[in-house]
Amino acid sequence: PQTVRPVSGRLTSYYGARWGTAHNGIDFGDPIGAPIFAVTDGTVIEAGPASGFGLWVRVQQDDGTIGVFGHVNDILVEVGQHVNAGDTIATVGNRGNSTGPHLHYEVHVPDGSLYGAPIDPHPWLAARGVDAGVAQD
Ligand SMILES: [Zn+2]
Repeated sequence: PQTVRPVSGRLTSYYGARWGTAHNGIDFGDPIGAPIFAVTDGTVIEAGPASGFGLWVRVQQDDGTIGVFGHVNDILVEVGQHVNAGDTIATVGNRGNSTGPHLHYEVHVPDGSLYGAPIDPHPWLAARGVDAGVAQD
């Protein structure tokens, strides 16, 4: 089993309530065009436009969770494609509801709903040996 950080950029925002709304993922600041990596081995289940995210990629990850990569600039994979942890699947962008170039990464647990239930990616990554880092205000 192998798990990698989705981008090399710094953590900029945590999961949870933010500005009175739910923030269902964590954010990493990175320049437009920076590579976004598959976090685990998996299968691409969606790649294209998404409300709020501009473009997104969703990957069925090796433990059954779904990784969501939002605001991406370029999509480099296709639906149905198998990816390995560390493969470049997209590039960082500033599309959709975004105030600067960054990756928004979510982890969802399938629960029978359309997209599953979001969980905090930070401890999920930590449990797999990946330190997402500390966001500075
Ligand atoms: Zn975000």
